[in-house]
Amino acid sequence: MPETLLPEPTTLVGLAMAVSLVLAATLMLMRLRYPADIRGTGYWALGPALWCLASALISQHGHWPTSLTQGGGSILVAAGTLAYYLGARDFYRRRTRWPTYALLALLLLALLGSREETGYLLRVCAVYMAVDALNLRILLRHGNRGFPVRLIQAAFLVHLLALAARFVQLAQGGEFRDFLAPSPFNSLYVGTYVFALLALGMGAIVMAMERLSGDLRHQATHDPLTRVLHRGALMQACAQELDRSRRSGQGPTLMMFDLDHFKKINDTRGHPYGDRVLAHCARRAKEQLRQADLLGRYGGEEFMVLLPATHLAEAEHVARRIRAAVSEDHPLRCTVSIGAAAWRGPQDTLDAMIARADRALYQAKSQGRDRTCAA
Ligand code: GH3
Ligand code: MG
Ligand code: MG
Repeated sequence: MPETLLPEPTTLVGLAMAVSLVLAATLMLMRLRYPADIRGTGYWALGPALWCLASALISQHGHWPTSLTQGGGSILVAAGTLAYYLGARDFYRRRTRWPTYALLALLLLALLGSREETGYLLRVCAVYMAVDALNLRILLRHGNRGFPVRLIQAAFLVHLLALAARFVQLAQGGEFRDFLAPSPFNSLYVGTYVFALLALGMGAIVMAMERLSGDLRHQATHDPLTRVLHRGALMQACAQELDRSRRSGQGPTLMMFDLDHFKKINDTRGHPYGDRVLAHCARRAKEQLRQADLLGRYGGEEFMVLLPATHLAEAEHVARRIRAAVSEDHPLRCTVSIGAAAWRGPQDTLDAMIARADRALYQAKSQGRDRTCAA
């Protein structure tokens, strides 16, 4: 590659400063504006803020004392990457105790505090690699396969490779001890750093945005008390499932269940207690279902279950399990009545199935409750 096409390392350090400033400001804004349960953004803002300061110090190399530009710069780069690691821990709700912070800070100072000894540059490289590896480890353990996680993993990997190359060079008595000296290798080395911090910052921003949109999507489709689908989302999901049944020829069974004598619970123990009973019943019912089954709050203390590609006989087993689970594990031994409606073929509609399940539920109530009837 012609040398002239590569920006000089000092230009890239200036670019790193500008990029990390924008990332720090964006992440800080997210920290302030986003709900507190989107965690990690505070540390993720601190990381680029420290990288920005580091770049500012490094850019003064030759003008300010080396202990400040090189010594301070290296500590700030590593501290920023540690802050990024703490952000990832916080995002995944891994608790970090204060002795861990103290230990990390002490370790950093012990390793990078003195520039006098030989091997200082090798040590800087090794510390950067260790902190990158820590980050990579937590993202491989807890991250999903989504784009932002993959981007961050790739950035750490590429940066680790660049560090390894520099480490080898330094160990061989390196001609390029000063990474600000103009050379293609130094431009690539600092360029990798700029790429990494841009990718890390953008990755963190997208991760926080995805977490927020996931939470909002959940809130928009789920009932806050019972944490199952609310009526609108339930009806939409059931309609889609019926469409699928028409194509596959394998129909679902629909069930309605209603808590028995629930009004009495409210009247004798109060509404907040009744609320907790409702949440208990929904949670226990959900535990009896498969991933693909749909459970939602149809209204009040009435729930609807759709079991895709399930015959009535199998559904009756599920109904028995739900009735047992709801009454277990609770001091009131609450009971539910269930009405089940089997699919009658491609011409069957959701409204018709609900009406049949409702009739069956009424039957279960009139026959004495705590039972399942089918229509
Ligand atoms: P049955 O066995 O015939 O179903 O009797 P029931 O008392 O359960 O039936 P009814 O329909 O008369 O009463 C339902 C009660 O559910 C009335 C309403 O106050 C209560 N309810 C509806 N939604 C909620 C809620 O979100 N929280 C609480 N605590 N109660 C609710
Ligand atoms: Mg009831
Ligand atoms: Mg009712």
